This record gives sequence, structure tokens and C-alpha cells, in this order.
Amino acid sequence: MKVKSLLSIAICAIIIAGSGPCLYAQKVFKQQRVIIIMMDGFGEKYYRASAMPFLNQMEQHGIYKIVPSLMPAVTNVNNMAIATGTTPAINGITGNVFFNAKTQKEEYVEDPSLLLTPSLFEKAHNLGIKSALLSVKLKTIEVLGKYADYTLCPECLAVQKDKWANPPVLSDVYSREVNYQIMDAADSLLKNKPEVRLVFIHTTDYPMHMWTPETDSVKVFLSTMDSYIAKLHQTAPDAAILITADHSMNHKTQAWDLFQVCADKHTPVKIVISPEKDRYMKHHKGLGGSAYVYLLKSSDAASVKKTLLGLNGVDAVLTKSEAAAKYHLMASRIGDFMVLGDVNTVFGQLNGVAYEKLADTYRSHGSAYEAHVPLFVYNAKTAPAAGYFTSNYKLAAWLFSDKQASKK
Ligand SMILES: [Zn+2]
Repeated sequence: MKVKSLLSIAICAIIIAGSGPCLYAQKVFKQQRVIIIMMDGFGEKYYRASAMPFLNQMEQHGIYKIVPSLMPAVTNVNNMAIATGTTPAINGITGNVFFNAKTQKEEYVEDPSLLLTPSLFEKAHNLGIKSALLSVKLKTIEVLGKYADYTLCPECLAVQKDKWANPPVLSDVYSREVNYQIMDAADSLLKNKPEVRLVFIHTTDYPMHMWTPETDSVKVFLSTMDSYIAKLHQTAPDAAILITADHSMNHKTQAWDLFQVCADKHTPVKIVISPEKDRYMKHHKGLGGSAYVYLLKSSDAASVKKTLLGLNGVDAVLTKSEAAAKYHLMASRIGDFMVLGDVNTVFGQLNGVAYEKLADTYRSHGSAYEAHVPLFVYNAKTAPAAGYFTSNYKLAAWLFSDKQASKK
């Protein structure tokens, strides 16, 4: 163990004097390893439509709930919340992209300094607990990877090669296979590196963007994932397995470019941010079920709101403070308005037109209609009771929680 780790444990022990989050977490991780799986896009309909016998066993013998996920119902917001055990109001991550007030531009959330609270990996690191973060997406590793002892993603394998005895071969992010390969890598880590006590796996929702729950292709994918999870349990029977998702998925029929709409209606705005937009455009073309609207000047508020509310497919237009309060968002990182779509409608940039009818096969997320997901807690010896898990971001929050520690 490194001197720094020993030092932090000692400091932790002195400060807490024998009864606090530090010692509680150390007790948990000494007793058992913890596997966290963030199954991207794994809505309940997908679970119910597929043969997943191991997850059924987890449901029966552990905790199983449908819980709210965080809004906007996009990956980064939920992944960062799960990986820190906090809401966006605390961690600052309100989308896959954000409006940078300094540069006055839309930017991708890729800079780790945007995350304002310590991740589970940092907390583990400070206690001398080894962790691993396996993700299909580079952006996850960029923001969260710093304190993880092992990281893995298709785009970052070259940098990490020396750490992996047999570097796994990873397909690209637009495939089902990359998920299997990530699971294989997790299995090998559990087998060969028992000193790694916390393993966080983040899969891709590409299959759910592509296929409805009733499609054979997605059923094969989910059954295969189920057997991989069963395999992890076989390899590490001591380990707690915690699973949740970031959002579910729905077919969408129409898209609005709200910037264009506002310009056309002579109520122009400064910029509209689609929090779902990321570098993986094949998934959803950067369109999602909610949007942040930034005004040119505050006196435009009433007229812009009227324009937005006049659109077919807009469920609600919340002010900054209403949205921050309702969805636990950080007010300084959202627009003057948050626009919420109905179940059929998405928002984003449409290359010069205000409206587009979407293909019959188009599936996406981001609205309140995708903000509920399954949550499983299995074989977790010291986990709190089911009532604790009121949202997906609490999946692993208890591991380092003061309240949990004081209860034990
Ligand atoms: Zn996702």
C-alpha cells in the first residue's frame, strides 16, 4: 500500500475517531467487493421483454425497484450522479454538453474540473481502496477516470496497455459486442486482481437506440448480458452487485429546433442547448426530450415563453429556478428556461429547418417520460433497506455515506 494511502487512512481514522464514513466504507470493502453496473438505456420494458434469469434471481433475492432517474434523462447527468452518489445540484453535471459562459459557446462535458464533487473512485482512493472504471465511452473515463486504478474504454486502451496483462480487444461503440468485451474485461479483473474492491461498468445504449424491446436483436443482447452478469457472480461470489440505468428509451415522432423556431417567430434567443447532444451522433442525432434556452435579454422572457408553449409537443416550460428546484439541477449550469417535451417530441439542431418528422425507427430519451429505471441491489451484506433507494443516483451512495455509517 502506498504511503499516501496509509496516511489518508490514518487521517481518516483520527478525524472520525472510530465511527464514520471512512471506517464504514473500509469495513464494507474489506468484507466484500462491489460491482456497479450502469446499464445504459436499460428501461423496464427491455428487462421485462427479455429472458434474464440471473437478473430475475437478483430481483427475487435482493432489492428490486423502479426508481426515478435524474433529469434531463441523458447519460452523463445520470452516470455522474451514480458515480458520485449526488444530484446535479451538487456535482454540477447538467448534460452531455453545457453552455460555457466564459467562451459563450456550447461545449462537451469532458473536462474533469466540471465535476464539482468527489467520485466514488476518489473516495475509494483516499481510503486506500483500489477501484476500476470500465466504460464504452471515452468521455466517462475523461471525467471520472483520474482516481481509478484501472480504466478501460475502446478509445483509451492504447494509453492503458501496460496495466492489462492481456489487453482486451474492444469493438467500437456502435455495437453490441463492445458491451460483452467490457464484461469480459471485468471478469478477468475480478479473477486476476482481487485487490480491486470496486468495479464500475458502464455499457452503451446503442442496442436500445436501435431496437424496440420486442426485437430479437435486443433480446439476444440482453440475455447475453444476463449471462455475463451471472458469470461475474460466479467469478466473485463474495461481491455485491448493484445495477441501475440512466434512462429508458422511447420512439419519437418529431423534432423541433427551438433556436430556429424562436427566430422564425420573431422572439430570438441567444442559444439553445440540447443536453443529450454528444459525440456519438449515430445514437440519436443529438436530439433529446428536453432543452435549455438562454435568452438574449431577460425582458424577452414572456414572449419567448409564449412561443415555446405554443408548440405542439411541448409539455412545459420551466424557469431556471423552477427547473433547478424540481429536478435538483445547478441553476448556474442550465438556461433561463428548461423546455420539456412530451413522449413523442425531441429538440436539437436541425440544420436550418425548424421542424422534422422522424423515422419510424427513431428512438431516443431525455424527457421526463424516460426518467424512471430499474434498480437492483444483490448480495450486498450491509446495504440499507429498500426505502433508502429513492433514485438511481443512490445506488452506491450508501457505500461512503455518513448517515449509513452512523446507523451501523
Ligand atoms: Zn444513456
